[in-house]
Amino acid sequence: MILIDGKKIAAELREELKKEVSNLKVKHNKVPGLTVILIGDLTPSQIYVRNKEKSANEVGLKSEVIKYPDSVEENIILDKIQKLNKDETVSGILVQLPLPKHIDRQKVIETIDPSKDVDGFHPMNVGNLSSGYESSVPCTPLGCYLLIKKIEPNLNGKKAVIVGRSNLNGKPMTQLLLKENCTVTITHSKTKDLKAECLEADIIVAAVGIPELVKGDWVKKGSIVIDVGINKIDKGIVGDVDFKEVSKNAKAITPVPGGVGPMTIACLLKNTIDCFKRSQI
Ligand code: NAD
Repeated sequence: MILIDGKKIAAELREELKKEVSNLKVKHNKVPGLTVILIGDLTPSQIYVRNKEKSANEVGLKSEVIKYPDSVEENIILDKIQKLNKDETVSGILVQLPLPKHIDRQKVIETIDPSKDVDGFHPMNVGNLSSGYESSVPCTPLGCYLLIKKIEPNLNGKKAVIVGRSNLNGKPMTQLLLKENCTVTITHSKTKDLKAECLEADIIVAAVGIPELVKGDWVKKGSIVIDVGINKIDKGIVGDVDFKEVSKNAKAITPVPGGVGPMTIACLLKNTIDCFKRSQI
């Protein structure tokens, strides 16, 4: 059984990105810039943003965090995004979610110029991804995709089952695997027989938010299992997959923590660099 070491693979990706940034600096005499907007003082958001800034600096990106209090008015944020859209030193804009209730999340997402939308949430990028065109892809599914490709470079004809249909994870994951010629089934809370669906899969991606939902006897021998879930329970942090039992059948599996998580930030850096490169053409 292969334990998919997301920490190591993310570190390798960051190393590659660092080299790429330094080549871009020579070629264009400037580096890609990432601007993160953080509203309020939610602890998890602050930790995520700090980690994003640290990783961006490590690979040599120009990185900036703009902070606003919880009470900030929506139009202040929308005006700021519009200014950043016009700022040539900014390649990527990310507004850390969740937002305070009085700020319309969709309005914020749609105000970001799609060419700077490093989260890949803008409807234009969602549409481009599902049409098979070049686009920014949400960071977590992009990270899952890169992990799967490390284990199995040729996905032609593989049967993939995605558990969870969120816009953030399940849906973009489906598009990425369809593009690789997988036969993809997307399952969700109303799926009749989840076990039977999972048993058909060569690849399972679980993004649900239910601790250890995917059991050992739901997984056929030789499958690749990617666990996106992060669930805090009494014994610590666990994923959406029963790691101990599923490991007995899977060919390869991601641990939680240390699997998908580290890839998410590395993919944000990749998206920022890709936005910069597209803007230089
Ligand atoms: P979400 O709540 O937006 O969506 C959950 C999906 O699971 C829904 O589509 C729902 O239909 C489906 N679902 C619910 N109950 C189900 C059931 N019994 N059987 C099958 N499907 C069911 O969640 P999300 O934002 O996609 O996040 C999912 C998990 O991934 C969470 O644990 C979250 O913390 C984690 N997450 C991890 C990362 C990372 O970087 N590793 C990033 C984002 C989210």
